[in-house]
Amino acid sequence: MSIITRTSDAVEPQDWRQLLAGSFRQASELLHYLNLQPADVELSEQACRDFPLLVPRPFADRMQKGNPQDPLLLQVLPQQAETLEVTGYITDPLAEKHANIQQGIIHKYHGRVLLLAASGCAVNCRYCFRRHFPYQDNRLSRKQWQQALDYIRNDNSIEEVILSGGDPLMLQDEHLQQLLQQIEAIPHVRRLRIHSRLPVVIPQRITTALCHMLADSRLAVSCVLHINHANELSENDLFRFKQLQHSGVVLLNQAVLLKQVNDSLRDLSELNKQLFEFGIVPYYLHLLDPVKGAAHYDVPESQARHLHQQLQQILPGYLIPRLVREEGGKRHKTLLPS
Ligand SMILES: *Cc1c(COP(=O)(O)O)cnc(C)c1O
Ligand code: SF4
Repeated sequence: MSIITRTSDAVEPQDWRQLLAGSFRQASELLHYLNLQPADVELSEQACRDFPLLVPRPFADRMQKGNPQDPLLLQVLPQQAETLEVTGYITDPLAEKHANIQQGIIHKYHGRVLLLAASGCAVNCRYCFRRHFPYQDNRLSRKQWQQALDYIRNDNSIEEVILSGGDPLMLQDEHLQQLLQQIEAIPHVRRLRIHSRLPVVIPQRITTALCHMLADSRLAVSCVLHINHANELSENDLFRFKQLQHSGVVLLNQAVLLKQVNDSLRDLSELNKQLFEFGIVPYYLHLLDPVKGAAHYDVPESQARHLHQQLQQILPGYLIPRLVREEGGKRHKTLLPS
């Protein structure tokens, strides 16, 4: 662990915090930016109130102007379909409240613990299984941070700490550094994992300071990104993902299979090829969690399995993500046969 403090953030050309602050929060502004009329889409005011629209500009820049069916737009647009009651779609489909045994901690996977390091995200994905999660109860005070770290310290079966959220990269680099140092000081922890969508929606979040911090860690570090469509990755940002990779961070991706967004063989194969070119290994392809307000994204399991089978016929094995479903109460994801 290097003790040299680095101040390279000051020279980042466009600070991620400024980009975050400049995000779209009004559907009308986003639509105007995309040369769309409200009549082109099925916007819902109610859905906006239930779960606000939040879209950073770098992500909006990768949407196709004038296309109401753009696969990135469809992931973030509050639509009327969200307000329909659909049987089986509930607020806590994974029963996480039960695994949330202590504030800020979810311990349901063997040897791994989730540390809910930040309560917010840089983007609000409409299908998110945490859209109804009581984040406000999990915003940690300094004392609660210590209690969460004590929990990890006191259980030597925990080998891996997964920073989750919300999005853990919402934390400033200085704060992350302190957290990392405390985790590194726990001898039985060997691996650190960061689950984040921030490097995708604001690639400037991959700061030089972040890369140095992770490169210097004694822990084996991985970062599980969340990318659903090849258009989410722009060639202009390739160097940032490479920088993260060159810092020794293993980059993995989890995607969610979403109707109209990526439910075709063409979209899925392009996604997995594009990921690899960015140094990211396809890891999971999730079936949608039955979360209230997300039924319009559902792809039936039979279709999912068929798509997965077709992918196997055209891509090398290492570009095939595992097709999985998360089931409440289970200690691992359920692998689906193709
Ligand atoms: C599945 C999952 C995990 C555990 O992941 P593994 O890769 O199976 O160890 C951790 N956090 C979240 C949010 C997950 O969805
Ligand atoms: S970034 Fe992840 S946690 Fe945040 S809203 Fe999107 S899917 Fe949910």
